[in-house]
Amino acid sequence: ICGFVAIVGRPNVGKSTLMNRILGQKISITSRRPQTTRHQVRGIKTEGETQFIYVDTPGMHIMAKDRNKAINRFMNQAATQALRDVDCVVFIIDRTRWSEEDQIVLQRLEHVKAPVILAVNKVDRLQDKATLLPWLEEVGARREFAAIVPISAKHGTNVPELEAEVAKHL
Ligand code: GDP
Ligand code: MG
Repeated sequence: ICGFVAIVGRPNVGKSTLMNRILGQKISITSRRPQTTRHQVRGIKTEGETQFIYVDTPGMHIMAKDRNKAINRFMNQAATQALRDVDCVVFIIDRTRWSEEDQIVLQRLEHVKAPVILAVNKVDRLQDKATLLPWLEEVGARREFAAIVPISAKHGTNVPELEAEVAKHL
């Protein structure tokens, strides 16, 4: 079995960090500066008979008014292309903040037929863990998600659980 998995989310939510964590190597550039990765980065993970092809997909958050800038147009089209034939999408957001850019990414996922798993990242930074559940309920109501998984891409917390959810859709 071979499956394509797109990792999407606004800049700085931890797409590259998650990808590196899943693949167990530093193939993707992580940075505090947004848009360090302008190109899609792919990585293959083989587990027994199953191959997961992960695509780190930047450029999903670009607002309509900015889409005519050449680099943005390029990223935007590449993102749309990448989502066309995937088996599963991992949509990453930050643990506390829902921004306009998250909303744009979510809107662009409306037309995606593949199941979308919501990964709520950076939970290691949560000071009050009790705030997580209401937040998960709030964002969980914005769309039908195949699963909602709180993770820390940086520390690896719950990342195997996220991968198990992905594996259900190949
Ligand atoms: P991308 O723009 O979505 O690819 O985000 P990056 O993977 O480059 O991460 C942006 C920043 O967030 C980096 O400084 C990462 O170290 C940090 N980061 C990513 N995941 C986590 C996490 O789970 N916890 C914490 N505390 N920081 C994280
Ligand atoms: Mg990145």
